[in-house]
Amino acid sequence: MTTRRDFLSHLSRTAFLASAAPNAWRLEWRPRFADDPFALGVASGDPRPDGVVLWTRLAPRPLEPEGGMDGRRTPVTWELAADEQFARIVQQGRVTAVPELGYSVHVDVPGLEPDRWYWYRFQTGEAKSPVGRARTTPAGDAARPLAFAFASCQHFESGYYTAFRHLAAEELDLVAHLGDYIYEYAPQQGQPRRHATREIRALDDYRARYAQYKTDLDLQAAHARAPWLVTWDDHEVDNNYADEVGENGMESAEQVRTRRAAAYQAWWEHMPVRVPRAASWADLTIHRATPWGRTAHLWVLDTRQYRSDQPCNDGVKVPCATYGAAGDTMLGEAQERWLVEGMRASSAHWQVLAQQVMMAPFDFDPGPATRVSMDQWTGYPVARDRLLRACGQHAAGRTVVLTGDIHSHWTHEVRAGWDRPDRPVIGAEFVCSSISSGGDGEDQWREVPPAMAANPDCKYHSARRGYVRCEVSDREWVTRYRTVPYVSRPGAPVETPRTFRLERGRTGLQPG
Ligand code: FE
Ligand code: CA
Repeated sequence: MTTRRDFLSHLSRTAFLASAAPNAWRLEWRPRFADDPFALGVASGDPRPDGVVLWTRLAPRPLEPEGGMDGRRTPVTWELAADEQFARIVQQGRVTAVPELGYSVHVDVPGLEPDRWYWYRFQTGEAKSPVGRARTTPAGDAARPLAFAFASCQHFESGYYTAFRHLAAEELDLVAHLGDYIYEYAPQQGQPRRHATREIRALDDYRARYAQYKTDLDLQAAHARAPWLVTWDDHEVDNNYADEVGENGMESAEQVRTRRAAAYQAWWEHMPVRVPRAASWADLTIHRATPWGRTAHLWVLDTRQYRSDQPCNDGVKVPCATYGAAGDTMLGEAQERWLVEGMRASSAHWQVLAQQVMMAPFDFDPGPATRVSMDQWTGYPVARDRLLRACGQHAAGRTVVLTGDIHSHWTHEVRAGWDRPDRPVIGAEFVCSSISSGGDGEDQWREVPPAMAANPDCKYHSARRGYVRCEVSDREWVTRYRTVPYVSRPGAPVETPRTFRLERGRTGLQPG
């Protein structure tokens, strides 16, 4: 519990002055904090040519109810500068952090210059936040290069976020996070770190879980370094949920929607995102696009909220009778139409699908049988074929798929349809390993090398932890896989075991 001793406040003027002053409505209180209210750090995200979203959340005692706040609406000021020393302030303003939204702060700064770096910070009472670095994207016709990293899957208990420490030391324009930012699970025995609460189901549980993850200083450093593009996967709500079907098949759709509303709201409260308000938090629409001049168009997708239920009762298995049903969908009709229409209209060179689950089919059976994942795009062959044909039509040779979820690095050549070997290669899929999920990791999963011959489009697999760095121009795309040898203790070095290259006008992956 927070006590008044911990969370003092006072009126900046006396009641007498207030009643005498003509602008008494300006009377306000100045919060005072015994503990740093910016313990969760700062972040920026969803950059545009003229703006970027700045984020923080007041939480002086992150693991306590309400993050240690006392229930009052609290003023927060922000500053955005053209230099790191804040000598040239470009914009500043004041917002109110409210308990209904977890004391989160989202500032969508408008009116900025394209393709520029900025620095930002927040203040409440006497407390100043750390400084973050944000930037805008290049304007529509600019052929500017892009360097970015992408990551996923950061189960807090499984290990340290050393990969984020290395990511934060890189020169990057953007960071894309492809989901499993938190895990909903109860604490498990024998892990390097420990979840502070039981399995999370209600809004305050999700808030406390995000707060615990965000106390990690390596994660904070990665957020402060560059703007992020964030999407979610399953564990932000419930393992392998699909639309209104939970992991426990006995839950009602209404129960799943209630949990989704809590989980989606907490996600929004903790992410530097610009997404439209919804009538219900259970229906938060988060698919959105970030153009990078005419170099690349990044499509941030949601493959959880609208998908049909996994066929064959989920898992990695031999396809059953319900596999490949005509109506299967991964994106839902509206998102799929938005994506295909958008790719058709975009004049950017690389069309980049930033999404969750592996699109390339990997057959884990080295023999004549087939064993595939029902949770990934292989479980949805009809929807996958429809999307890949559209990519072949609108972005042949220019399609790049970015994927998380599977806790291992992979590289695949992408075909305009994998069920038809006559369809051409139209691009590549790069899959990032986990930041920490799964613990220290290993060189490769045991079942992968024997199955490689049966999966000729698969070019690389590593089961080490890490992230992926990409350097992009309108002439070529370079992907560097970064790995760390362990996460069970801090301090692991970073290595670059493999590099791949895509070249404009040349089909298929080249060695880096
Ligand atoms: Fe994961
Ligand atoms: Ca996942």
